[in-house]
Amino acid sequence: MKNTKVKHHRRKVIRKKTCRLCENKIYDIDFKDVELIKRFQTEGGKILPRRITGNCFIHQKKLTAAVKRARILALVL
Ligand SMILES: [Zn+2]
Repeated sequence: MKNTKVKHHRRKVIRKKTCRLCENKIYDIDFKDVELIKRFQTEGGKILPRRITGNCFIHQKKLTAAVKRARILALVL
């Protein structure tokens, strides 16, 4: 008898997206920390949305503020 049971291997990789900044215990994002800021930007200099980075609300807000300040000083795009 043919085994008709079709095994779907579409199991979603449920990876708990944790905020990397919380994980690394970074509570204040320094706008001078260009390397850090750039990690959360696209190549074009856009801030990556939270659903992509997995940042928590607090850090996303802090990041946005840091990016804005860094932009004024032309540290980042
Ligand atoms: Zn966080």
